[in-house]
Amino acid sequence: MPIYEYRCRQCGAVFEALQPLGADGSELTCPKCGAPQPEKIFSAFASSGHDGGGAGARSSCGTGGFT
Ligand SMILES: [Zn+2]
Repeated sequence: MPIYEYRCRQCGAVFEALQPLGADGSELTCPKCGAPQPEKIFSAFASSGHDGGGAGARSSCGTGGFT
């Protein structure tokens, strides 16, 4: 079951709730003030972008050894 985030329309408290897929959270109440029907927050998927590739320097470990 996914965890959804909700925000209370009354006090603005943000809380998470385990909800079955497709649930709209209309049955939830704010844990703080008890207000019904919190607003569902669509938490944007954290766009963990690429970090621009690794360091370009390829370390050539000396396998030959200097003689
Ligand atoms: Zn509230």
